[in-house]
Amino acid sequence: MADVPALLLDLIKRRVAARGPLDVAEFMQLALAEPGLGYYATRDPLGARGDFVTAPEISQMFGELVGLWCIDTWERLGQPEPFLLVELGPGRGTLMADALRAARVRPEFGRAMRLQLVEISAPLRALQAEQLGGFRPTWHDKLADLPAGPAIILGNEFLDALPVHQFVMTEEGWRERAVGVVDDHLAWVLAAPGESLSLLRPEHRRARPGDIAEVSPAILGVAKQLGERLASAPGAALFIDYGPARSGLGDSLQALRGHRPADPLRDAGQADLTAHVDFAAFAEAARQAGAAAFGPVEQGAFLRSLGIEQRAAMLAEKAGAEDRAAIAAALHRLIAPAQMGSLFKALALASPDLPQLAGFA
Ligand code: SAH
Repeated sequence: MADVPALLLDLIKRRVAARGPLDVAEFMQLALAEPGLGYYATRDPLGARGDFVTAPEISQMFGELVGLWCIDTWERLGQPEPFLLVELGPGRGTLMADALRAARVRPEFGRAMRLQLVEISAPLRALQAEQLGGFRPTWHDKLADLPAGPAIILGNEFLDALPVHQFVMTEEGWRERAVGVVDDHLAWVLAAPGESLSLLRPEHRRARPGDIAEVSPAILGVAKQLGERLASAPGAALFIDYGPARSGLGDSLQALRGHRPADPLRDAGQADLTAHVDFAAFAEAARQAGAAAFGPVEQGAFLRSLGIEQRAAMLAEKAGAEDRAAIAAALHRLIAPAQMGSLFKALALASPDLPQLAGFA
């Protein structure tokens, strides 16, 4: 079999030779999503033997509560039938499987929903088909390919995988961080800023030399598309991801391989690459496009208000001593501030006439 990492490296070097250094967003796009070569395109990255673990993989409670959130939201929307139940970047399909199992308490919800999965990864699509095949999902390559109509849309750790640009403040003003080739190796270089510089936020203006600002046209594009969609058809979207509640400065680009920090350049295509989500920028772009936005609220508070502690107690009651300890550990991991409870946040978008959503009171 061809050596995929070497082929990806080759592609990146040829791009640099032809066009000059790649901005961080283009580099992320290639390293994560290039068909046949990128990180997501070529593997299942999740779980103990993979590179990172996500909330639905930690405990069934996460997906179950999201399932109940979906039912509640569907009722607030007036129980549209049919409606699209959409997941962006469903990974192994675990969240959706847990959500739909919990949703069996409302059979009408199950009958009304049409499952839609937006996924670029062929290996992950295969796992999703195993988990969710019984619900007859339709797969799409991108958000824009979804059919029109009422929709409830979910994305857990989806936005953090979308490409960001990084700008570095220097004595001479902003420069764009980019990937070049030095001595035949990929290396960080500074380049003239591209047009995404115009997306910098007021909070970035206080930058001093050495500071880094991040903007993501891809994430803002998702916000705009969803904002327009929710303004014209009933629906809501729930995103859970990590990042600060307010826009700010800082380098959040992170590579993970085998649960350890990796070198984004040396491990291109073999490590997960993420950046913090700028929730304030995301919400503002969705509002400008016509949606209402709720939050962000911290994941711990969100899950508690949906009843995760009661759910854990219920599960523990039926469990043996060993499972009880595992349930307590999972609960702690999901909601404790020093674990995922605080850095991770929930943000919802909705059609403008929807006054409130569960978990965002
Ligand atoms: N939601 C899952 C997986 C998170 S990992 C969980 O919580 O476990 C990110 C997911 O988004 C993967 O399924 C990945 O293949 C998918 N993905 C990454 N970039 C994408 C893109 N541009 N379009 C669609 N899916 C994408």
